[in-house]
Amino acid sequence: MISQRAKNIKPSPTLAVDSKAKEMKAKGLDVVNFGVGEPDFDTPPHIKEAAIKAIKDGFTKYTPVGGIDELKEAIIEKFERDNKVKYSKENIIVSCGAKHSLYNIAQALFNPGDEVIIPSPYWVSYPDQVILNDAVPVFVETYEEDNFTLRPEILKQKITPKTKAIILNSPSNPTGFIYDKKTLQEIAEIAIKNDIYIISDEIYEKLIYEDNQHISIASLDEEIKNKTIVVNGVSKSYAMTGWRIGYAAGPVEIIKAMTKIQSQSTSNPTSIAQKAAVAALRGPQDCVEQMRAEFEKRRNYLVEQLNKIKGFSCKMPQGAFYAFPNIKAIVGKKVGAHLLNTSMEVSIYLLEKAQVALVPGSAFGAEEYLRISYATSLDNLKKGIERIRKALEEIA
Ligand SMILES: *Cc1c(COP(=O)(O)O)cnc(C)c1O
Repeated sequence: MISQRAKNIKPSPTLAVDSKAKEMKAKGLDVVNFGVGEPDFDTPPHIKEAAIKAIKDGFTKYTPVGGIDELKEAIIEKFERDNKVKYSKENIIVSCGAKHSLYNIAQALFNPGDEVIIPSPYWVSYPDQVILNDAVPVFVETYEEDNFTLRPEILKQKITPKTKAIILNSPSNPTGFIYDKKTLQEIAEIAIKNDIYIISDEIYEKLIYEDNQHISIASLDEEIKNKTIVVNGVSKSYAMTGWRIGYAAGPVEIIKAMTKIQSQSTSNPTSIAQKAAVAALRGPQDCVEQMRAEFEKRRNYLVEQLNKIKGFSCKMPQGAFYAFPNIKAIVGKKVGAHLLNTSMEVSIYLLEKAQVALVPGSAFGAEEYLRISYATSLDNLKKGIERIRKALEEIA
């Protein structure tokens, strides 16, 4: 009865961990949730006000499919201000979240059998969106010693005449690392030489720590800009995950095709949320800095503490809100009667024994890691860390 297409994919494993944790909480268990992929802050008040005003003004009808002009203009201003990239309205589409923009790209760009390069560890939705569109994910291993960024020599070896696109995600979910300019330049050169598109997911661009810097690959030069579709949104920067506003910028033809697809699937993103997104992008930005500074404090605390846990080794991430500790020293070991043979078994053990929810590295194609979200209070981090430490004390 169910289509082969639906059978070919799995539900998002990160959302699955989150709902399991919430289920345990609902039963009265005191679960510490390190599985979340969204800011724990409330949406800033001036953004909420803009939405309330939109409702009161009766701005509650269909809008143009690809978003209202006012929002497209605010997005264009953002690209010029933050990324030094110039776009016009024909280069922009607003969708129901960055995930939806990514899906529209897959629909607009991939033919059956096209190969799409996905650096691993990867965000959970990339492979399944590729598969849903009859294309083939081609995973390219990255290494901790390279901050989990693509090695150009390895990338070159994976390219075939069928390669259609490379998906980049910087800052990365799950690793928290960012691409430096030199690596981006090398990837751009390879993409241009082989006529490959770059899909650049930059949703965490505002969450960057210390003196690290986010560079959009589209900003390198005009040639790579014309082969790149940048994806971004307001979910992570402005604590607006529930509002469902994301956007993409790229070549006119691709944006046109995406808009046509959107016109036959979801139509426009919510009118009210679009007005809120205008307020987010054009309003005061100190709320972003406040949240970023708080994330940085938590990151510093969490990584220091993780490195004190037996069997954990954690590099300092540069952006996003995840730590990605290496648990090579734990996988294959036992605690009491529990065998910890995989990252999944480690996370199930920690959920049951310590009531700490986190996502196994296997969800991201990285077996010997865990993803710990620090989109939660310092108090929660302290509590969860202490529980993990205790649960792994007797490891042998
Ligand atoms: C959260 C997230 C998204 C999706 O964001 P929405 O705009 O809420 O759809 C896309 N990419 C990555 C890497 C994410 O972590």
